[in-house]
Amino acid sequence: MKLPGDVLFLLERLAPHEVYLVGGCVRDFLMGREIHDYDLTTSALPFEIERAFEGFRLVETGLKHGTVTVVLHGVPYEITTFRTEGGYSDGRRPDTVFFTDKIEEDLSRRDFTVNAMAYHPERGLIDPFGGEKDAKEGMLRAVGNPFLRFEEDALRILRGLRFASRLSFAVEERTASAMRALAPRLNLISSERLYQELCGFLTGENVVRTGLAFSDVLFAFLPELKPMQGFAQRNRHHLYNVWEHTLRAVQNAPRDLVVRLALLFHDSGKPSTFSMKEGEGHFYGHAKESAHFADEALRRLKADNKTRERVTLLIAYHDYPVVLEEKAVSRLVRKIGKESFLQLTEVKKADSSALHPIFVEERIRSIDTWKGIFLAMEARQAPFSLKDLKIDGNDLIALGFSGREIGEGLEQILSAVIDRTLPNEREALLDFAANLGKGENRT
Ligand code: ATP
Ligand code: MG
Repeated sequence: MKLPGDVLFLLERLAPHEVYLVGGCVRDFLMGREIHDYDLTTSALPFEIERAFEGFRLVETGLKHGTVTVVLHGVPYEITTFRTEGGYSDGRRPDTVFFTDKIEEDLSRRDFTVNAMAYHPERGLIDPFGGEKDAKEGMLRAVGNPFLRFEEDALRILRGLRFASRLSFAVEERTASAMRALAPRLNLISSERLYQELCGFLTGENVVRTGLAFSDVLFAFLPELKPMQGFAQRNRHHLYNVWEHTLRAVQNAPRDLVVRLALLFHDSGKPSTFSMKEGEGHFYGHAKESAHFADEALRRLKADNKTRERVTLLIAYHDYPVVLEEKAVSRLVRKIGKESFLQLTEVKKADSSALHPIFVEERIRSIDTWKGIFLAMEARQAPFSLKDLKIDGNDLIALGFSGREIGEGLEQILSAVIDRTLPNEREALLDFAANLGKGENRT
């Protein structure tokens, strides 16, 4: 394992105490994945860690649980004293934390075998639970008895979903049974942590397989999604039931959290708006209903307002017609903004990709053309709103416009520029405005 200089420095500085890299970085290294942060574990007690790093920037927020964070070159490194945990009476956090001098004891409190390995450049890999083998085989397995481990801390169930999705792992059978059986205990977990793990799951690469295998775990804290399960669409555009279509759409989307959250809820209003007409299923008004469900769920999970508002906007517009004309594109961009328009094209493409295969190619091609129209307009700096025009209300006032005439005049000018009967150049716009004349001549 080739280690960055700062990490080697941390390891050396803590000698002669026992010290190891631990958790995600060891797992990701063994799997050949990119390592995003290095966590350390040591036999040194917190005061000894602090002493070893005297003069360095330290963050003490985790001190009670034996964690000291050392900041090197702006990067925080968590160093935690080997510890075991006392009972879990609330299903969320240990009642007490005991320090130990045995690395194996520390590893045994960790959640999954692939997360329960430690590594030191000289001592090598410490792997008492077969994490290396599981990592190579792509298997997520709880450390110890999974029923007890998820009962201690229900958050581990959702961490399991996150790892299965992100690492593309299968879940070992007993671990999987325990995750399902103990899912009702997720009601003990705070909204913030549920939301955080949900986002990790959604932006993973194996959303379909994990989501189908653990539907009830998701429904335990997202009950509004449950009616989609097994709900037949009875419509020739669809091959999959609503829930499977949903998971496929999520997985086919880029890893943009907002886009993926929008897709998770985009059809949640279908079951309650279902009707039959001429032998086919229809879902009139489902977009609005789905946006409403998403709004409620995201408020409950305490998602930030910006995310919640963007997600519900994308859902409300997910069935907006794809009209391959500049005017139509421009009208939509004026309503929802450029960034949302681009995200909407991703939502629509992913949604289309999970239709009956015979419709997919044509739909996606048309959405790409639609996006192309927008990009071409943007490239030539076509105006999408009044503020993009090279003149403004003051120019019209100078020409003698007043009151409502100003806004109406600008709208007419914008229409002409969007239609390309008029270039967005100051002189041309002033000429055009002057010719609009005053009073009755204007429409
Ligand atoms: P990531 O790559 O997503 O950061 P990670 O494995 O580093 O994955 P963290 O949430 O950063 O995950 O946790 C660090 C380590 O702490 C884990 O690898 C695991 O060993 C242990 N851990 C974290 N949370 C729990 C928990 N709730 N129960 C048991 N062990 C946990
Ligand atoms: Mg980590």
